[in-house]
This record gives sequence, C-alpha cells and structure tokens, in this order.
Amino acid sequence: MQLSSFRGYHIRMMKKTLLCAVLAAALAQPVASYADLPDLGEVSDASLSLADEARIGRNALLAMREAGDVLDDPEVNGYLNAIGGKLAAAANVPGVHFTYFCVADTGINAFAMPGGYVGINIGLLLATQSEGELASVLGHETAHVAQRHIARMKAASSATSPLLLLGTIVAAALAARAGSGDGAMGAVSAGMGLSISNQLAFSRDFEREADRVGMQYMAAAGFDVRNMAGFFQRLEQAGRYSDTMAYAFLRTHPVTLERISEAENRALDYPVKMRADSTDYLLVREKLRVMTMSPDEALRYYQSTQARGLYLSQGASWYGMARARLLRHDAAGAREALAKARGLLPDNPMLYGLEIEIAREGRDWNEARAIARKGRAAFPYSAALQLAEIDIALDGGDKAAAQKLLRAAEDARKNDPALSRRQARLYADADPLRYHAALGDAFYYEQRYPSALEQYQLAANAKGDDFYLRSSIEARIRELQRTVKDEKQQARN
Ligand SMILES: [Zn+2]
Repeated sequence: MQLSSFRGYHIRMMKKTLLCAVLAAALAQPVASYADLPDLGEVSDASLSLADEARIGRNALLAMREAGDVLDDPEVNGYLNAIGGKLAAAANVPGVHFTYFCVADTGINAFAMPGGYVGINIGLLLATQSEGELASVLGHETAHVAQRHIARMKAASSATSPLLLLGTIVAAALAARAGSGDGAMGAVSAGMGLSISNQLAFSRDFEREADRVGMQYMAAAGFDVRNMAGFFQRLEQAGRYSDTMAYAFLRTHPVTLERISEAENRALDYPVKMRADSTDYLLVREKLRVMTMSPDEALRYYQSTQARGLYLSQGASWYGMARARLLRHDAAGAREALAKARGLLPDNPMLYGLEIEIAREGRDWNEARAIARKGRAAFPYSAALQLAEIDIALDGGDKAAAQKLLRAAEDARKNDPALSRRQARLYADADPLRYHAALGDAFYYEQRYPSALEQYQLAANAKGDDFYLRSSIEARIRELQRTVKDEKQQARN
C-alpha cells in the first residue's frame, strides 16, 4: 500500500527532518533517573518503575503527536478506546491506564509503548477482516504492556539507558510508518550506536507469551479467539507477495507456521464464540479507508467493490461511498448514499456525524444543528456528537449557544483538552485572559507543561478582571514552575 494523500495528513513530506525533530523532542523530554529507586525485589521493577514507564510512554506519544503522526479523530479514538478498554479490563493491571491511539499511516503495524500506550496504524485496521482480528492484535499488544515486557527487556540489557530506550521506542514507532525508508532508520541507529531491530523486537518468548495472554484477554472480552490464527495466516500470505516496508508488523512479529499452529492449538481450549462485527468497527474502517485515498480513488474503490459485492457489510460500504462523494463535494450524492447506509444498518452516532458533515458542506447551519440535536437525543453519551454540536455553534457564529453547550459538556467531561481548545476559540478575539487560560488548560491536560506555563503566564499578564480565575491561574503557574524545574533537574541527572 502506498502512503498517499491522507486528507490533511501530509506525512510523507519532510520525512527525515520530521524524524529528527521527533527524536530531538523526545530526548529533550526529561526521563526519570531510577538509580535511587528502592529495590522492589523484582527485576522489572528495579530497572523501570511504573512511573518511569508512564513518563516514557507519555513523552513518546507527545513527540509523535507533535510530529503529526497521531490521528486525532474523536470517532476513531472513541472506538479504539472502547474496544481496547474491554481488553484492558480483562488484563486488569493495577496502576496502568491504557490509552489506545491511531497512527496516521498505511503501513500494517501496531505497537505497545511503556505505560499502556498502544498504537494502531490505519493500515492494520484496514487489513483486518473482522473485529475479532482487530481484537487479537490489541490483545497481543495489551499483553506486552501487562506482562511488562519492555521493563523486562530493559532489565536484560542493563547497558541501555532510559534516554536511549525512549529514543528507541520513538524511532521504532516512527519506523512503523510505511513511508519511513531504510535511510532514515539507518541514520537513527548509526547515530545512537544501536541496532534498532535488535533493541525493538521482543524475544520470541515474549512474543509467544503475548499471543498466549492476549488470547485470554480476547476470550474474557467476548471475542472469538480463533480470529488470532486467522489473522496471522492472512498476514503471512499477504506479506509473501508484498514489499516488506508495508508490513512492519511482520518484521517485529514474524509470522511463522509454528506461531500460527500454536495459536490454532491454543484456540481449541476455548469454546467457539460467534460474534458479529459491531457497526462501530465497520464504519470506522470505511472512514479510515477514505482518509487514505484521493476523492477519485475512493469513488472508484466503492463503485468497483459494490459492483463485485466485495465488502464486509453493504451498509458500511454505502457509508464509505457517501464519504467518497462528500470528498468530491457531491452533497446530494452523499445524502443519497447515506440514506442507503441507514436503511441497512442499525442506528449509530457516526451516521449522524456524517449527516452533519454533509449539511456543513452546504454551510446549512440550521440543518446541521437540527441533526446534531437529533443525534444527541438518540446518543447522549457520544463525545464525538457533543463536539460536533459545539463546532456547529462556533463555526456558525452563535457564541451564546457555543458557551452554553461548552458549559454543559465540561460539567460532564472534566479535563478534556478538546473542550478547552474550543473554549479558547470562543474567547479568541474578545477576552485575552480567558483565551490564554483556556489554551493553558488544553496544554495542561495534554501534559505539555512548558507550553501550559507559557499560556498561563500570558493569561496572568492579560487585561480582564475575574478574581477567582486569576487566583487559580496563579496557583497553576506556581505548580507548573515546580514541575518544569523538577523535570529539568531529572533530565540532568
Ligand atoms: Zn508482539
């Protein structure tokens, strides 16, 4: 698969500088020194504490996000964390909060970073043919985290410093992108005196353990464990005929006949579970597919697959067709395709989401608002629809409505940077105090502390009187000054 026109995600540009920038950013982030941590008796704890892991993973994710590699789509994120959350609940790891995120890349890959950060490439999601196959990969990666494979790998090679480990993790995550050729990879590994492939790949024992434990999570979460062997098999066959860069997952997860038959044998111990794919899975897959194509490619894809009946779900195929037509600014055609999708699928918030997008294409704010209200009444807990409704008010210039909606949303979901950013938009022209305070909040919730501090300081110096807000900003500034100082201190150690 070619890394082509992601709508809005021009990843291929400046690949090399991007890689260096990300690495530099990652390495500049302080990493805890654990020389003085108490020996907890267990090798993995002594070498890397859970707090160290969380910090390394968080910084790696921030670096990837800053490089534009993370797809911030509320519908996709909501879905990945819903399905990942089921596997994480089965894993039940105290002290680890799992975060599943989508990497805007067509290479087939998934990876686990320390601290419970699990990345899934668009390409991997598109390669799956059922939700159970996706669950098998997520279960495997969740098991790497739960079994603390990174800390145990680190313990086995004591020469690796935490900074190098972080660099390696980020480099690995980036190498997982189909577009990053051997040139960039070579530069990184030479510069760091490391062989990326040796450092990154878990041992065969760890891989086997992740397959075995991941399957337990799948079963506990209600998926059909036979999907694991099925997915391996298809990857193995596909990998044989394709260029290897697109199959990064196979490089770190070689699919051998032995591995496939182990997964098959293990599955015999579990009862057979037939399970239909969720509508969310089917729709997210088509949404992502359209993102990887140009408008004309997408239209041709749906025309030809529909003509030959090649789809998992006819309804989802019409949803994809509607997206393809919308990309070509054909609102009437998109509406018609969406109506067909609705006729074939159970009601779903993503159908309202697309209907809103179509109304917005014609800049019909009243219609968009009406659809959002209807969708919110049917799915009051959909964060994506809630954000869509706020955006309609902001983009349609209805500040009073935006303010009201934001207040209600913040009551329901505290500490959400997506809401703070919209708050900032609301105050952008009129109220510098609240504008900078809201931006500071967004950075603070994203744990980008130096940027948060900068915004809070701008807020403190801005005009405007609100005694309560000002004193909370002052308190944040004092807290952040300590945090930033501590992190700098730790980075020097
Ligand atoms: Zn693995």
